[in-house]
Amino acid sequence: MDIIINIIAFLAAFAFMEAFAWFMHKYIMHGVGWFLHRSHHEPRHGRFELNDLYAIIFAAPAIYLMYIGSPAYNWIFWVGTGISVYGLCYFGFHDVLVHRRMKHHMRPESKYMQRIIRAHKIHHKKLGRKDGEAFGFLFALPKYDVKKTNADNEE
Ligand SMILES: [Zn+2]
Ligand SMILES: [Zn+2]
Repeated sequence: MDIIINIIAFLAAFAFMEAFAWFMHKYIMHGVGWFLHRSHHEPRHGRFELNDLYAIIFAAPAIYLMYIGSPAYNWIFWVGTGISVYGLCYFGFHDVLVHRRMKHHMRPESKYMQRIIRAHKIHHKKLGRKDGEAFGFLFALPKYDVKKTNADNEE
């Protein structure tokens, strides 16, 4: 039974993180937390930006849960793991694929990948804090699908 509980804990934590990241991005990072997130909507000078501090803020509870769940490797450990794996997927998508903080030549072809990439690029069209859209990361609504005839799918 334990294995089923652990798998559910992992998947639920992963899915919850997308909802949580959307909420944080929309209401906190574009709200009171804008002083850190702003650096991500402006050109980056150097290797890091203040916004990177959010990675540490999100990683801390995940590491803590993995730590307290680790003697038994129970569901608490797997919740921490789900959050951590979400963090890795987020980093791969957001920082590597979209913002190219590491050199690569990947050009994802799948409809899903193209949709979430386009949604995040639309999010970045706004340089300011207000009136943003597309606050999700690994999930985007079908309206962000890339259409071949669509003129604004270039960028
Ligand atoms: Zn933003
Ligand atoms: Zn971004």
